[in-house]
Amino acid sequence: MRKKIIAGNWKMNMTPTEAVNLVNTLKPLVNNEDVDVVFCVPAIDIIPAMEAAKGTNIHIGAENMYFEESGAYTGEISPKMLEDAGVKYVVIGHSERREYFAETDETVNKKVLKALEHGITPIICCGESLTQREQGITIDWIRQQIKIAFLNVTADQAKTTVIAYEPIWAIGTGKTATTEQAEEVCAAIRACIGEIYDEATADAIRIQYGGSVNAGNAAELFAQPDIDGGLVGGASLKPDFGKIVCYNK
Ligand code: PEP
Repeated sequence: MRKKIIAGNWKMNMTPTEAVNLVNTLKPLVNNEDVDVVFCVPAIDIIPAMEAAKGTNIHIGAENMYFEESGAYTGEISPKMLEDAGVKYVVIGHSERREYFAETDETVNKKVLKALEHGITPIICCGESLTQREQGITIDWIRQQIKIAFLNVTADQAKTTVIAYEPIWAIGTGKTATTEQAEEVCAAIRACIGEIYDEATADAIRIQYGGSVNAGNAAELFAQPDIDGGLVGGASLKPDFGKIVCYNK
């Protein structure tokens, strides 16, 4: 049985003071031992959010990371910095990073390898645009993203990673993929992992759905056989996130 993992993606929201307040508001609401709970927060919020989350079931994660150890990369945050801060999860290749910051499948792969080298679990994002869905090439596109993201990743490493399937047309739009659409792609991702590695790896890897998840649709989505939780944007900033995390209560 795979343990569910539900992660909030705060995006570019919350000052350090607001971050502490939000962790304090959410901590009594996200207490569900059946789920790994992660708040992926802006880099400047990592330390204060960790302090605020001390002694709770909340893991603080990062939203991005560079693939070099250190050096002349102004504005970037390194895997070594995240490791030293005690960060255990990092979102890699979110569609907003691909769209606005020119991330590619190749940079995603480099970041995945680096995160793993530093003992940080990458939450690897993939997803199709509306045009790709309408052209019927969703599965081919996602398979390509997955195959490149996992280049040179061993089966043992792959088992520890998390994949977030996030159709771009569903992110921040209020349009959720139907349960059938979400399950179809998550099952195809698992099959692809099975082809790259083996059945044991496919069975172990956790696959999230993301895209306008809310308190009303979480339970149905997370009940699907290949959906092991969610990556949640907008709703992770509200008390509603507690209802998403406690979807099975
Ligand atoms: C996200 O940021 O990864 C996301 C899925 O956002 P939202 O839940 O707001 O659609």
